Amino acid sequence: MTNEFKPDPVISAEDSRAFTEDKYVPLKKEVFVKAADAMSDKGYEEAYLGDTLRFKMKRDNKRFWAGDNISDYLHEGDIERLIDEATEAFETVLDRLLIDRENDPNSKGTARRLAKMYFNEIMAGRYEPAPDATAFPNDSADRYEGMLVVRSELRSMCSHHHQPVSGVAYIGIIAANKLIGLSKYTRIAQWCARRGTLQEELCNDIAREIMRATDSENVGVYVQAVHGCCENRGIMAHSSLTQTTVLKGAFNTDGNTKKEFFDNIKLQQDFAPR
Ligand SMILES: [Zn+2]
Repeated sequence: MTNEFKPDPVISAEDSRAFTEDKYVPLKKEVFVKAADAMSDKGYEEAYLGDTLRFKMKRDNKRFWAGDNISDYLHEGDIERLIDEATEAFETVLDRLLIDRENDPNSKGTARRLAKMYFNEIMAGRYEPAPDATAFPNDSADRYEGMLVVRSELRSMCSHHHQPVSGVAYIGIIAANKLIGLSKYTRIAQWCARRGTLQEELCNDIAREIMRATDSENVGVYVQAVHGCCENRGIMAHSSLTQTTVLKGAFNTDGNTKKEFFDNIKLQQDFAPR
């Protein structure tokens, strides 16, 4: 009896299929790494750009979870290359799902459509830098001292099942010495949402990024959303609604501020289009 590993002749056989359409040449070029260069950005390159970037992020202890932004690691043209690489990977997924992407006209371009959708749409907030939120001074004698509540529509995706999450965030703020344009609140919220998230995490992320963009310590974020992973699978609970709240500064410590925030949300809900 021996434990020697014998490769399966079928599984390890060379793939000799000749695809006439959607032909994709694997990027299996040889990789050379000079040991001295492996810890710097020069001299290290994997066959896949995605692998090179993962190596760099691990080396730097940079977290790259589904809800993290990694735009600092991307350069011009990288997204196109990453889409090519993800297309190849999605082709493998479709093959493993036994979907005939050679003959089924609806599945022919699906791998590339999925790759583009992930990078450019549903996970765009991971790859794009933060929206540019130009700040205007709010420090004159007649500065605005009231509460501001903005309703932002959100589309997100749960990182567990990659199912859609859709809902709204109500962002409340008592402005500090600067103000940002009204649309920027929604841009920031959507930038946080277009990733793989959990709603609890998303609520925190929006509060943190709004505080960063406005310098205000008094911020409240309330998110209500429906989750595809509860509606389309699992418990199949249609129209189940999840609510999360993050309160910072006066929103947390002062009962009146908190009440005013939730009263504003109710007013918004009374008037908002359904
Ligand atoms: Zn889920």
